[in-house]
Amino acid sequence: MKIATLSIGDELLFGETVDTNAGHIAAGCFESGMRVVRHLAVGDDEGEITDALQWLASRYDAVIATGGLGPTGDDLTARAAARAFGVRLALNEAALGHLREFFLKRNLPMSPACEKQALLPARAGVIPNPVGTACGFNFMYEGCRFHFLPGVPREMERMLAETVIPAMQKELAGGPALRTRILKVFGHPEVELERMLGDLRLICPDLQLAFCVEFPEVHVKLRISGEPLEADRRLAELAARVRERLGDSLFAEGGETIDTVVARLLREKKATLALAESCTGGLLAKRITDVSGSSAYFLQGMVTYSNEAKTRLLQVPAGLIAGRGAVSAEVARAMAEGVRKSARSKIGLAITGIAGPEGGSDDKPVGTVFIALAASSGTIAREYRFHGDRERIRSIASFAAMDWLRKHLLST
Ligand code: ATP
Ligand code: MG
Repeated sequence: MKIATLSIGDELLFGETVDTNAGHIAAGCFESGMRVVRHLAVGDDEGEITDALQWLASRYDAVIATGGLGPTGDDLTARAAARAFGVRLALNEAALGHLREFFLKRNLPMSPACEKQALLPARAGVIPNPVGTACGFNFMYEGCRFHFLPGVPREMERMLAETVIPAMQKELAGGPALRTRILKVFGHPEVELERMLGDLRLICPDLQLAFCVEFPEVHVKLRISGEPLEADRRLAELAARVRERLGDSLFAEGGETIDTVVARLLREKKATLALAESCTGGLLAKRITDVSGSSAYFLQGMVTYSNEAKTRLLQVPAGLIAGRGAVSAEVARAMAEGVRKSARSKIGLAITGIAGPEGGSDDKPVGTVFIALAASSGTIAREYRFHGDRERIRSIASFAAMDWLRKHLLST
C-alpha cells in the first residue's frame, strides 16, 4: 500500500509551527508495518488543498491529511475535499450528533459556528474524535482512501491510533507486511554493534539491520517484510540471537524505556529507593517519578548541591569532603549510604560530578562523575568520564545511574 501524508495550515509554511504531525504519522505507520512514501504540505488555500488532493488521489492508495477541520474561516479542508472529489458539502448527522454530545457533556452552549464542523463531503465516513469537537472523515476517491484528521496533535494522535491505523491494517490484511523489532542498547557505540551483529545480514539475507543513535542509547532495528506471522517468527529468532550476543547491555525492547524497565524491576524485586544527587540536580528523581505508580518504591530524592547540605542532610563527614573533594568516590559512597539510612530504603543511589563548563581540573576534568550504589550487600562507587556539554553530561550521568540500578536489580 502506497501511503502519502498531507499537512494543511499556513502556520506550517510560515515556520511558526513545526510539523510534528507528519513525523508522528510516519512513525505510527512504520511501527504498524506500513510505509509513508510521500509527504506534502500546503497552506490554508482552497485551491492548493484541492490540487494536492487530486494529485495524491492519482498516485497513492491511501492519504492521511491533517489540519483545517476547525470551526473558523481559515479551516477549509472539508470544502476543498468536496470540490476535489466532486461532491457537495452536506450536514453529516453522525458528526452533528458528536458535536451536540461533546457540548452537552461539558455543559456548554454550542455556537452556530461550531455546526460548520458537521458539514462534510456527502457520503464521507466519520472518524470519531474522543478528545475534541472536530470529527475527522474518510472518503474513497478514485481508488484512494483519504483520511482527514484535525491538526491539533493530541486529537490527531488518538484518532490515528484508534481508527485510522486499524482501518488501514484491516485493508492490508493478508498481504505482505513490514515487521520491525527494536532492541535498545547502552554502552556500545554503533561501530561496535556493527561488528558484533553485522553478520546477521549473511545469516538472513532479507533482514534490514539498522543502528539508530538516540543519545545516549543505540537502537538496533531488525526489519523483515513478508507474511506477518512468518516475519514475526523469524524476527523473534533473530532477536534471541541479538540478546545472546549483547547480554545485559541490552536494556529494553520495543516500547519499553530504561525508566519503565527500572520501574518494573523495582516492583518485581520489592525494592525501595532513595536518591542523593548533586550534578544532575534532580534529573534522576525526575526519571524515576516520570513513571506513574513510582510512589510504590521511591521514598525520597535529595538534591544536595552545597557541601554543607551534604553534611547536614546526608551526614557526609565535612573532613571527607575537605580531604577528598565533593566530587570523589568516597563522597559519592557516603552520599548513597547517608540517603539510604535517612530514608530507610533498600537501595541508596548517589551522583556527584562536574557537569561543566567550569569547575574542571587536571585530575578531575569536566565530565568526571562518581556514582555510588548502597544496598544490603555493601556500597560500591564507580568513576565515569563523560564528554560533551553540560546538558549531555548530566543526561548521560543520570542514564548511567539508571542502567547500573537496572543491572543491580537484575543480579539480586
Ligand atoms: P481546530 O479545531 O483546533 O481548528 P484544525 O483541524 O482546524 O483544528 P488547525 O487549525 O489546522 O487544526 O490547527 C490546530 C492547532 O494544531 C494549531 O495550534 C496548529 O499549530 C497545530 N497543528 C496543525 N497542524 C499541525 C502539524 N502538522 N504539526 C503540528 N501541529 C500542528
Ligand atoms: Mg483550525
